[in-house]
Amino acid sequence: MALIVHKYGGTSMGSTDRIRNVAKRVAKWARAGHQMVVVPSAMSGETNRLLGLAKELAPSSGSAELNRELDMIASTGEQVSVGLLAIALQAEGIEAVSYTGWQVPLNTDSSYTKARIESIEDSRVRADLAAGKVVVIAGFQGVDDEMNITTLGRGGSDTSAVAIAAAMKAAECLIYTDVDGVYTTDPRIVPEARRLHTISFEEMLEMASLGSKILQIRSVEFAGKYRVPLRVLSSFTPWDIDIEEEAKSGTLISFEEDEKMEQAVVSGIAFNRDEAKVTLLGVPDKPGIAYQILGPVAEANIDIDVIIQNVSQEGKTDFSFTVHRNDYARTMALLEGTVGPATQAAKVQGDPKICKVSIVGIGMRSHVGVASKMFRALSEEGINIQMISTSEIKTSVVIDEKYMELAVRALHKAFELEKDPV
Ligand code: ADP
Ligand code: ASP
Ligand code: MG
Repeated sequence: MALIVHKYGGTSMGSTDRIRNVAKRVAKWARAGHQMVVVPSAMSGETNRLLGLAKELAPSSGSAELNRELDMIASTGEQVSVGLLAIALQAEGIEAVSYTGWQVPLNTDSSYTKARIESIEDSRVRADLAAGKVVVIAGFQGVDDEMNITTLGRGGSDTSAVAIAAAMKAAECLIYTDVDGVYTTDPRIVPEARRLHTISFEEMLEMASLGSKILQIRSVEFAGKYRVPLRVLSSFTPWDIDIEEEAKSGTLISFEEDEKMEQAVVSGIAFNRDEAKVTLLGVPDKPGIAYQILGPVAEANIDIDVIIQNVSQEGKTDFSFTVHRNDYARTMALLEGTVGPATQAAKVQGDPKICKVSIVGIGMRSHVGVASKMFRALSEEGINIQMISTSEIKTSVVIDEKYMELAVRALHKAFELEKDPV
């Protein structure tokens, strides 16, 4: 008997029939003798619907006052889900109780819409488990120290589940979703994408941080920090499949790197359409210029991703960087208003229609020529690379958004990711 955390995403919770299926699957695990904590997301489309209503009325975006209310609204999606799932479990003859984030409580800081978990008090949950109940906890949400409801950012139920598993020292955290594991890339873009039986924790961290939305990045960070055994698997297999078989299906996020993993030079391709590029043309090429530009951007709480500074000509240089697309307007206003004039930039330019495509693999540490193979594949498709950024286990390029799918397909093919590396 073990303590197991299951997480079910929006599609898996998408209708009362699907919720009944989730309940049957959870009931199977509970009847096998496990202590079960279940973390569902809102029903598919619900978070978008709720935030859409708010947008119709919102006068502006970005203020803390507005974000507080957005969390108040968005968190109700998960509140409905936990209640429905608890009822469905009771209908299966399983004792079950549901909690919102604040009832647990799952304590967070006060950064509305992207709050960070600070602590989880699990005594109430433990008491229910000891009494033989299945505990259903709302994903995506928490509470700050003034009892304001917070949310953890889009896709945040993954993080709720892993954090609860970490806090309660669960034997395993199983992330049930609408695909049967982590693939070499999003199978919606490349139908030939191949499911990985295991992926190293480091690669999963890169994939998630580079835009692969299969797991929220913070969930992977939690899993790494607290060594939570983590698996991604399908909620669409028949609920009554053999439990041992189910427990081995999908993709294991592995903390041990084996030789086989090193053999695959590139393990996966991630892409991110959420970025925008800004450029300051003709800034003086002198010490401190990067700080003069990026300091005010950081002070405005805008995260910077890829940075590039061109070769200087006649003492002048061009300086480009990318930010989240939601921060694009704010960044442009800052550059045009104060930073541009202060740095004597000749011109400020922006392009919100870019994307970042990345190849990821721990095998890149020990192989040369990987980046050049990537650049060749892109050039053969006539795709211009605007920016490049590399680290030990990844190479990213910024390209025009309209070539994103073409680039991902071309790279998948060039690195033969559809084939099992043996
Ligand atoms: P959930 O609602 O269960 O949290 P998400 O939509 O957040 O599900 O994540 C699952 C989706 O992630 C899949 O349907 C798939 O399109 C997408 N995805 C992106 N990259 C990958 C990948 N490398 N492997 C598998 N799925 C991926
Ligand atoms: N319902 C939230 C969202 O759509 C959280 C999640 O699905 O993980 O982002
Ligand atoms: Mg998700």
